Amino acid sequence: MLGQMMDQELLISSIIDHAALYHGDTEIVSVNTDGTQMRTNYSQVHKRAKKLGSALTKRGMERSDRIATIAWNNHRHFELYYGISGAGLVCHTVNPRLFPEQLIYILTHAEDKIVFFDATFIPLVDGVRSHLPNIKHWVLMEARSEELASQHDWMEFYEDVVAEGDDDYQWPSDLKERDASSLCYTSGTTGNPKGVLYSHRSTLLHAMMSATPDVMNFSARDCLLPVVPMFHVNAWGSPYAAALAGAKIVMPGPGLDGKSLATLFNDEKVTIAAGVPTIWAGLIQYLEATNTKLPHMKRTVIGGSACPPVMIDKFRDEYDVEVLHAWGMTEMSPLGSVNNLKNKQLDLPDEEKKVIRLNQGRPSFGMELAIFDEDFNQLPNDGVTQGDLHCRGPWVLDEYFMAEKGTTLNNGWFDTGDVATLDADGFMTIKDRSKDIIKSGGEWISTVELENIAVGHPEIAGAAAIAAKHEKWDERPVILAVKAEGANITEADLLSYYDDKIIKWQIPDKVIFVDQLPIGATGKILKKELRAEYENVLING
Ligand code: AMP
Repeated sequence: MLGQMMDQELLISSIIDHAALYHGDTEIVSVNTDGTQMRTNYSQVHKRAKKLGSALTKRGMERSDRIATIAWNNHRHFELYYGISGAGLVCHTVNPRLFPEQLIYILTHAEDKIVFFDATFIPLVDGVRSHLPNIKHWVLMEARSEELASQHDWMEFYEDVVAEGDDDYQWPSDLKERDASSLCYTSGTTGNPKGVLYSHRSTLLHAMMSATPDVMNFSARDCLLPVVPMFHVNAWGSPYAAALAGAKIVMPGPGLDGKSLATLFNDEKVTIAAGVPTIWAGLIQYLEATNTKLPHMKRTVIGGSACPPVMIDKFRDEYDVEVLHAWGMTEMSPLGSVNNLKNKQLDLPDEEKKVIRLNQGRPSFGMELAIFDEDFNQLPNDGVTQGDLHCRGPWVLDEYFMAEKGTTLNNGWFDTGDVATLDADGFMTIKDRSKDIIKSGGEWISTVELENIAVGHPEIAGAAAIAAKHEKWDERPVILAVKAEGANITEADLLSYYDDKIIKWQIPDKVIFVDQLPIGATGKILKKELRAEYENVLING
């Protein structure tokens, strides 16, 4: 017997339809590429997204055709998210920080038909265009400029495209929730980038769960500023989850420095933000230097790499901002877990609560996490045993885009490539990427823990721990550290700082001070480069 309830597909277009209907005048503030600001709202975005969907259809785009974007977080990018997916096409967000060769690879592999791009990326696009003969339209996300049109005869303009669309366009009625909606490629630190093809259903379920209180906790009273780029796992799904909740959104454009962000946070009364730790380090530096406070900000989601404990403390103690430490991956839409306490933990002493808050948090409903050993035996959730972290759920990928069938999963689970512990309450602690973890004399040392301690030292601005080859122990930890401005810290000072914080044999063998650490396209430290440069320092002296 079937249930007798309405059979409605879970479609991305329904999010923006809802937002326009019940939150039509809720603002979307957008910083343009030239730094100027514009204000729009859900009602306007809805109208324009539909016109865009209509225009793309009129231009001959067919179901599931891929349309690429190379763009900052701004209102036109937001319209593209809804207009492309809503029309039954696939919104393929491309990371402009990739090397041109990777960009060409990705745009070719995805078989994109049209590319929408921001003005910042005109030189980038012009450089790769001749390698991409199958892309028929290159559309600058601006109003028409005769000057640019005369300089670049290949360039089309976003506002001209939108104007081609019909006002009374209806989203396609035969679109199914399992149809593809959007595409992101992994950052490709090993081998070629791989595509993750999301569906309307996976995106909707992820968005609905993201908005709940123990995940990102979005409501119609919030004002969200997604610092995390819309080209990195759909800004962690926040443009969907925030619209679904009817939250005001502030799109920061290209200015992600401390001053630009702090100004937007305070001018627009932002209540929640989301971004990687490197961005927040820049913001905190600015706040401290200028003695600026964040009176409106309540929460910030930090993830993408481990959030150092000192950052969590600083946000809470000095700015009254709660950090939601989150973990996820492109392959998981991306949210896997978020740190929020449980009822039974509320009365624990502050020091104990503080310790719980440091880990990567718990999975929400819809996400199952488990750890396994090398022979795929499931390991206990005892908070101590560490193993290869696997996950499954309706917003976890099944197969990489165009990959050979059956080559992605491990016995029905997705292997995250992370090494972690899980406790009986579901709290998960990432120890490392399995590629980065240090194996010293058969014992594991977590680079995340070593880095967290180093950046806790007031004279250290950044740190990366790597495995260096060692004659006796196979591998030993070495720390690459960046000194804070004006700091005089020595190698001996930093090593002695580890003394009471970690077991003796885990203390690094060496500290090397560097001017800066190599950062990749998604804001993560490129450990592979560091290993290539420094892995022999303990052997060669
Ligand atoms: P990406 O798909 O580019 O977002 O990268 C996903 C990877 O980032 C994960 O597999 C983790 O290794 C790492 N990562 C994400 N969030 C965290 C976190 N909160 N703590 C530690 N590592 C993280």
